[in-house]
Amino acid sequence: MPSNHILLITDNATDTTKLISLLSSRTDRIFKVEAVTRLSTALDRLCRGGIDAILTDLSLPDSEGLETFDKLFALAPHIPIMTISDDSDAPLAREAVQRGAQGYLQRSGLVSSLIPQSLHSMIQRKQIEELLLSENMRAKVILNSISDAVISTDLHGNIDYLNIAAEKMTGWSRDEAHGRPIAEVMQIVNGTTRLSGRSPIELVLEKDEEMGLAADTLLIRRDGMEIAIEDSAAPIHDASGKITGAVIVFHDVTAAHALATKMAYLAQHDDLTKLPNRAMLSDRITQAIALAKRHRSCVSLLFIDIDNFKHINDSLGHDVGDRLLKSIAERLSSSVRNLDTVSRQGGDEFVILLPDGQGSAGAEAAAKTILMALAQPHNIGGHEINITASIGISVYPDDAHDAEALLQHSDTAMYKAKQGGRNGYTFFEVAMSDRAIARQKVKMELHQALRLEQFVLNYQPKINLRTGMITGAEALLRWAHPKAELTFPNSFIPVAEGCGLIPPIDQWVLRAACSQVRRWDDVGLRLPSVAVNVSALELRQRRYADGVRAALQETGLEPYRLILEIT
Ligand code: GH3
Ligand code: MG
Repeated sequence: MPSNHILLITDNATDTTKLISLLSSRTDRIFKVEAVTRLSTALDRLCRGGIDAILTDLSLPDSEGLETFDKLFALAPHIPIMTISDDSDAPLAREAVQRGAQGYLQRSGLVSSLIPQSLHSMIQRKQIEELLLSENMRAKVILNSISDAVISTDLHGNIDYLNIAAEKMTGWSRDEAHGRPIAEVMQIVNGTTRLSGRSPIELVLEKDEEMGLAADTLLIRRDGMEIAIEDSAAPIHDASGKITGAVIVFHDVTAAHALATKMAYLAQHDDLTKLPNRAMLSDRITQAIALAKRHRSCVSLLFIDIDNFKHINDSLGHDVGDRLLKSIAERLSSSVRNLDTVSRQGGDEFVILLPDGQGSAGAEAAAKTILMALAQPHNIGGHEINITASIGISVYPDDAHDAEALLQHSDTAMYKAKQGGRNGYTFFEVAMSDRAIARQKVKMELHQALRLEQFVLNYQPKINLRTGMITGAEALLRWAHPKAELTFPNSFIPVAEGCGLIPPIDQWVLRAACSQVRRWDDVGLRLPSVAVNVSALELRQRRYADGVRAALQETGLEPYRLILEIT
């Protein structure tokens, strides 16, 4: 059984004896009594700790009256104190109670068997008080350290508490706000309608249930600043379940809203030109088609790809290329109406959506304006750059009925404009789509041809007509297509050019030709030289020279025996 440790302070030996005998006679509760006669001794003892309650005479050899209580209380405010008094000094004992003593014992009643019980209750009460106090302190510290604002009100919606975050967000201090109606301190409006809203606290008090705040709520701070907030409010009940007030918790979502807006923007715009990107264009085409369907009108797409843009990057650098792309974006935007959408698909590809274009005529007019606008010299970092572009046009409802197909067709038409010599526009035709599908098939097969080594070289000898001697040979590329005759380059090289397969094919040709000549050397057939074809465009690439060097080194062919013929 835990014992209650009592410090008894009195120089009255009779009282001491009575109390010790009273307290130690208990069997249901253990009291340990330490008796001292002077205040100074008591104060020393308290400093060592372990005392649960103090019983003190106010009149001691070294201290008199309330001063005795005050000194004990100052040193040990958390230990319950009871004074022992005569009838004559009862007013003094009552004054001590006013100052914080838990009660007093009448000297005449020191034999009462109720004393141990009241001592024990006093200790318990004090312990509970201390606990509540520390819980209360904890709650206050927690409420003040959280970033959410907390405001509580009484049953009439008048404020009785604000934490620090709520003070900052409303602009009202706790003292100023205390007792004021919640609606005065926490003014809210709807962000869209600007209508002022009812405080959720009022609703909670009315309905006695939890409430969330409507989305898009703005808090008007005392200085007029507006803060986007999110919150919830709940009723406060007493032990019997009766509603006694309400509490609202809210936080600033301005930063979260700004971030969400920024993310949405980034997801829908091209980083370099700030134009709508592929995703946003796709949405807009879908919307435009839906609208056109209802109004029986047209939607046109202009797919624009800059001609020979790689040369700009190669000759003037990627940075100039980037700035040119921005300049192109500006030209495009200023060549169309506000309701048209100019988007960047990526690379040097842009798509313009004319939502209520007057069919082909409108699209054609727009294409002409755009080609002219782009053709004006672009001044980038001191360079005057002239560019042209190829445009493919597709029109809803003539060419397709959904966004994806309409876009695909404008791309196909653009490819056709490139083939037609660039710097122009071409309308989509169904036949193109068939050709586009065929081209896609060839592209896949070409990749496979490289992987499976389906290319072969035919050697056409060069003969000196005077001597009749073979002076060399030209290596001619053929594709040994598994399901066709030997295929000639003009049927697949244009597709290979379009999908970046020329460098690996060239590499394969170089290696195959060099190693074939070396193999003939090994069997005593010395061919003086071998010629391979190379496009002027590829020859300008540094990697081509590296490829030639590698092929010669690997096969051991003397460099003078390899002839590069520019096609
Ligand atoms: P074509 O006339 O056939 O269109 O020839 P092209 O040189 O314009 O070739 P293509 O349109 O196929 O390639 C566009 C090039 O644009 C490819 C790439 O090097 C370059 N490019 C892609 N994105 C960027 C970019 O963000 N900045 C810069 N500076 N260049 C880019
Ligand atoms: Mg291009």
